[in-house]
Amino acid sequence: MEIRSLEELCAADDLSLAFNPYGLGGRMKPEDAAEFQQRQIADCDLTAGVAAGTRDSFERLRTVFAYGVLCYDVYTIVGDQALLIYEQALRDRFLEWCAGTITFRVPQALDVSYTVSSYDDVKKRADRMTRQRAKLVVANQAIEFNGMLHRLRLWARTAGLLRGRRSRAVEEALARLRNYVAHPSGHRVDTPVEAARTVQDLAELINQLWGQATPGGRLYPAPLRREVAVLSWNGSGRARMEPAHALAVPGPMEDQEDDEYQHVVVRAIPFVPGSRWDDAHWSEFDTRYETTRFPTDYLWGPGTREEAQAWLEQERPEGDSVDFTDRVFLVQDHGRLLPPMRPAVAAGLPDDERLGVWHAVRADFPDDAFAHVRGSGDRSAGHARRPGNCPACSAEVLRSGSYDQALRAAAAALGPIQAVQLPSVRLPLSTFWPDRP
Ligand SMILES: [Zn+2]
Repeated sequence: MEIRSLEELCAADDLSLAFNPYGLGGRMKPEDAAEFQQRQIADCDLTAGVAAGTRDSFERLRTVFAYGVLCYDVYTIVGDQALLIYEQALRDRFLEWCAGTITFRVPQALDVSYTVSSYDDVKKRADRMTRQRAKLVVANQAIEFNGMLHRLRLWARTAGLLRGRRSRAVEEALARLRNYVAHPSGHRVDTPVEAARTVQDLAELINQLWGQATPGGRLYPAPLRREVAVLSWNGSGRARMEPAHALAVPGPMEDQEDDEYQHVVVRAIPFVPGSRWDDAHWSEFDTRYETTRFPTDYLWGPGTREEAQAWLEQERPEGDSVDFTDRVFLVQDHGRLLPPMRPAVAAGLPDDERLGVWHAVRADFPDDAFAHVRGSGDRSAGHARRPGNCPACSAEVLRSGSYDQALRAAAAALGPIQAVQLPSVRLPLSTFWPDRP
């Protein structure tokens, strides 16, 4: 090979300089590129409890990432290495979880426990037990477990260490990539953008494995802050969302003359410019259906601005935080497909509104649940029709059947469901969910 001088090794790689904050295009100065690229992963810190081996590997990865400015190939190596650390993190977490003992359920025999002191022990034992068709006991379940990446992921899900429906699809994609890295069959080159994304995803995954959700995260976001807000609308289709405290000041000038605005008080994800998690569907609010992307709780209304203000002053409701992942929705198909409903709302329906086929679906967003049910009408689209994870989307089917069957499936997933009966309130204009009875 060609021997390069130290000076040449320290020179920026032209390819790396082509990536700037706006994507490809202009060239960055080497010092700007060095800072810009490091900033992409600067926030990916691991939580305190993470196992030392996983932590060391991850920190090494972050160190190496910075050298991508000098050598573009580093980004591909970082991406590959991240996928291997993904498996290392699962193994390390498994060892902590089992605390030295793994238990298998053997067909027609008593459970047997083994002492393990390394992941090699786990792997050897799991191999042997798999041949005997024994299953690993995880909490109150028994799962197939051969110690390989795919089963490790299922173990982490069964043990409740990983959560979210969309993140599950990403975990699967990462596992496929990891297998590709272990057995490459072609040419793959990562850009700094992809490498940074992989490092960010890896940090979120490791932190989640050790019990720490990521504030503002993409895969395992921490619960979102909800504030008390007032939604209002008038007869000509205008809608507003304002924080509750804004009601103390007079409304916008043009509205002072017409007091036609209706107001409802809700608890909702506030609009934060630039936030990853914004409720783009807030103006679709409906007490009957889950037509906003994030859980929006009805508190009061409808009524005038003064009435809303008086209620707020008397009750002084407060914000809270909410985990929106892994929600359960009920989708009613009665002549046509209706928008997803909260189980508690469905539980409060009168008898004559319980007709048709009902689908209990677990998803992070109501649109995911709806898209799955709609898609499952077309057999060629590959959506699951039986209970289980859908191979074609990020939904999990709990049950399809009668109202009672679907509601029971929801209760099995969530625990007892307290029926609620809310006044019928909805904002009049709808872009995303126009087809509601
Ligand atoms: Zn599906």
